[in-house]
Amino acid sequence: MKNIYLVFIMTVVFVNCTPVKKSGIKEQVIDKPITKNVSSRELPSSGLLKIASDVYSFSSGGGYYSLILVADQGVAVIETVTSKHSTELIKAIRGITDKPIIYAFHSHNHWDHASGGKVIQNAGGKTVMHERAAQWLAAHPGKDTSPPDIIWSGQQRIFKLGGITIELNYLGLSHGLGMTVFRVPEKQIAYLADIVTPNRLLYSIVPDFNITEWERTLKEVLELDFDQAVCSHNERPGDKAFTCSKVHVQEHLDYINDLRNAIFAEFKKGTPSKKIPANIELPQYKHWAFYDEYLEMNAYRIMLDLWMGPYPWLPEDN
Ligand SMILES: [Zn+2]
Ligand SMILES: [Zn+2]
Repeated sequence: MKNIYLVFIMTVVFVNCTPVKKSGIKEQVIDKPITKNVSSRELPSSGLLKIASDVYSFSSGGGYYSLILVADQGVAVIETVTSKHSTELIKAIRGITDKPIIYAFHSHNHWDHASGGKVIQNAGGKTVMHERAAQWLAAHPGKDTSPPDIIWSGQQRIFKLGGITIELNYLGLSHGLGMTVFRVPEKQIAYLADIVTPNRLLYSIVPDFNITEWERTLKEVLELDFDQAVCSHNERPGDKAFTCSKVHVQEHLDYINDLRNAIFAEFKKGTPSKKIPANIELPQYKHWAFYDEYLEMNAYRIMLDLWMGPYPWLPEDN
């Protein structure tokens, strides 16, 4: 365990983090050391990484990252993922502090992100979710989901924990329902679920994304004030997977734009529409994860959107 601890200390240097040692706080790595020089697709990074004072990025190894914030009063987490992930998350928290878990924030409605809340509730924490996500989950409960303790509505809600602000922003439709972009202004940190995945193409058939609303949302995210973020999924190599930044937000916008332009170019050449997705090549993104697997599916989805109009959609009441 001591060697693992040392590896962990060393890895901090690579993400330009604040020093790990802090009085009264001990660092811990869950299960495995963070592995370097291994594609995160082959072995997703796992463990706990301090990314700012009292702020940690955590993964249980399944390719999902949560944010942990330690305040004077207690602990807040963003993204419970599953019961398994949340159980590991609590173990990780207990490695850094004995303070109670006060809040667990859910980013959006999908089962693969919004499960595991019961584990936090059993530990005494309150789960928090936007109304739109809560409505969907009430109608479509998953095997591992539980009703949230606090439901918020509208475009912004501020939670205070000790002297720290947790800003919840609902920026409208993008992906899923109630998608919340979190910001901790005192730490210059954000949390971005599903709407930005560094170094990876769009996920397979781009499920439950309204592409144009997503692009609008990403542009609004660029306007928010933060230096670094935790992205719920991340294909940056090794320990870089624990953080992301506005660079990756802009890269996603550029990719969607480049893909759309490539489709238009095929239209101009007279390529039959059914053959366009397989004909698309974007060599500048070849180094991104799942280039070979997802490019054709991504192209099909962007093309369908151009053909049918943006979907899914629902009227916003505020
Ligand atoms: Zn999702
Ligand atoms: Zn996801």
